[in-house]
Amino acid sequence: MSKALLGCIADDFTGATDLANNLVRTGFRVVQTIGIPDGPLNADADAVVVSLKSRTIPAADAVTQSLAALAWLQSQGAGQIYFKYCSTFDSTAQGNIGPVTDALMDALGTDFTIACPAFPENARTIFKGYLFVGDELLHESGMRNHPLTPMTDSNLVRVLQAQTQRRVGLIDYCTVAQGADAITQRIAALKAAGVSMAVTDAVSNDDLRSMGPALAALPLITAGSGVAIGLTPAQRERSQGDAATLPAAQGLRAIVSGSCSTATNGQVAAFIASGGAAFAVNPMQLAQGEDVASNALAWSKEHLLAGPVLIYATAEPDAVRAVQAELGVERAGQLVEQALAAVTCGLVQQGVRQLIVAGGETSGACVQALDIKRLRIGPQIAPGVPWCHAPSPHAPQNGQYMEGLHLALKSGNFGASDFFITAFDVLK
Ligand code: ADP
Repeated sequence: MSKALLGCIADDFTGATDLANNLVRTGFRVVQTIGIPDGPLNADADAVVVSLKSRTIPAADAVTQSLAALAWLQSQGAGQIYFKYCSTFDSTAQGNIGPVTDALMDALGTDFTIACPAFPENARTIFKGYLFVGDELLHESGMRNHPLTPMTDSNLVRVLQAQTQRRVGLIDYCTVAQGADAITQRIAALKAAGVSMAVTDAVSNDDLRSMGPALAALPLITAGSGVAIGLTPAQRERSQGDAATLPAAQGLRAIVSGSCSTATNGQVAAFIASGGAAFAVNPMQLAQGEDVASNALAWSKEHLLAGPVLIYATAEPDAVRAVQAELGVERAGQLVEQALAAVTCGLVQQGVRQLIVAGGETSGACVQALDIKRLRIGPQIAPGVPWCHAPSPHAPQNGQYMEGLHLALKSGNFGASDFFITAFDVLK
């Protein structure tokens, strides 16, 4: 395995496919693993993306898992590490972005890294350290109502500084606009001034491309998926996005949604308005011990043959707050995730082979329940969301793999309002 391998650690599953997608489009040959593999990679790749579900777990657990991923990536020859988090910098005051970055820096023996969640193609831009979602500051966007990681401060220097003992600084737009040499000089100046992490402004793909050469010497990059656009695979000249050609799609179609983000609420509403068959999962019924997953699956059996079905817990902020007030944030999230994971397994048993899962945490729960180990990245549906293919929805049965599953893992705020209606067309 080449020393030039880019080793990526993603803190959720939708984020991992988002990063893998951008790397593929940039010309990397990418393997995405679900969790940390037991054995060697055994694949010809320029980048490996290890998908963790570590965004909202206790910080100490996130650190342990990330260090284990680092150790495995290093054993496979990774020369540079890319810690991928959400383009809306989803975290709590305790972490996990700061603690994981600290632990990776300590393990790598490095005294400097950047922090850049910018993803201009999805309207996430950073100016003077402030993160914008579309035309709104982060704290004014729907992210202020996120069920697990409400973001109430748009100043990323402040947000990150609250999560680390290291000094956090800024590479601001005046520098980024001058290009790679200016960024390199600014990094040297910040290091000399005792700064260890620098939030880095970017408002366009051109900015990300300027950044790339200046980041080549850093053992650790921390970023959203956007920064990948500026990187170059070390082993060869950049090719033109050679996304894998996936096997022909077959089987029934379904959408499972546990995201309560603004975009997902719009997508659920649009799907229902277009006449799509939809089943709402009620968290209070779950808390009362009702077997909602079985009810959902009995319902889906009746509707699957007629077209894609949607099973969703997606709800507007007021409804989510009411449920959380009754059940607590963590319990509400876990109950819904467990139910949707059970629904996902049942749908696959009913013959679903084209599946969209909406929500980062939700995707983690569903993909883990399906026991998928590896994903191939296929065509892009929307920025940040590719169709992927898992060789089998379950472990091999009688030594024979089943026909595999096409999966799209959609981060909450990605995709246009017709995403659930049009995404399956991309597989045709
Ligand atoms: P996103 O990608 O939009 O951030 P996630 O799946 O990461 O979506 O997070 C959404 C969280 O909200 C999950 O833990 C999910 O179980 C939880 N959730 C979903 N629906 C509801 C609901 N109706 N009430 C409370 N929590 C919910």
